[in-house]
Amino acid sequence: VDTGRGLHVRGLTTRYGPVLALDDVDLTAPAGRVTAVLGANGAGKTTLLRTVSGLLPAQAGSVHLGDVDLTTAGAEDVARAGVAHVPEGRGVITELTVEENLRLGALLGAARASARKPPTIDDVYALFPSLEGRRRQAAHSLSGGERQMLVIGRALLSAPEVLLLDEPSLGLAPRVVSRIFAVLRGLVDAEGLAILLVEQNARSALSIADTGVVLNLGRVVASADAATLAGDDELRHAYLGL
Ligand code: ATP
Repeated sequence: VDTGRGLHVRGLTTRYGPVLALDDVDLTAPAGRVTAVLGANGAGKTTLLRTVSGLLPAQAGSVHLGDVDLTTAGAEDVARAGVAHVPEGRGVITELTVEENLRLGALLGAARASARKPPTIDDVYALFPSLEGRRRQAAHSLSGGERQMLVIGRALLSAPEVLLLDEPSLGLAPRVVSRIFAVLRGLVDAEGLAILLVEQNARSALSIADTGVVLNLGRVVASADAATLAGDDELRHAYLGL
């Protein structure tokens, strides 16, 4: 096992009963890099994130954060170890205010023995200024883009080493996606955060990613730097719908 900083997935295999959803997947999401996971509907992208984050058991293979083995760790332990999962669908707590949602994230940051100093809620407002003016508003009143900023902000408050993002661009205007991706790119470059970005929208994912893997029917069918993937016509037609 490569024990460099970041996330190392080897031979990962996950089943839903008879359905083999992930089949012997290898990938690395190194510190200071954005790694995109691309593929059509049903390719296994969400299953990959759910297995890494301990929400689903792996049938085989391993998940390491640096040299820490997380393969059999439950979701809480994976989060405490420094892997933050932002699921598809913007899981904010809609009855709570923006600031209350952020305070929940800060609790995890305070509870976790992190190498890095956790950011403050004000740091999150500095990254996403549109949240600050809405700090006392209930989260259900936010736009889709603001909700995405809120869940990402909440995840960042745990000072993660690895951020798992499931389809953050879904349903958002391209301009909003660019703004969120620019903030994330800044954190990756400045703080060495590792991002594993799942996207069906290959174009927007490859615009921020350093490298990417393409999944099809649970298997890795390609793995290369982002520019190579974006320029591969055959791949684009076969798997990426571009
Ligand atoms: P999408 O973008 O649609 O979420 P995906 O690439 O994330 O697609 P997964 O959701 O990981 O794909 O699904 C991978 C495979 O596992 C699919 O064949 C899907 O039908 C199957 N699957 C997913 N969840 C379950 C489940 N709870 N029970 C049974 N099969 C499932």
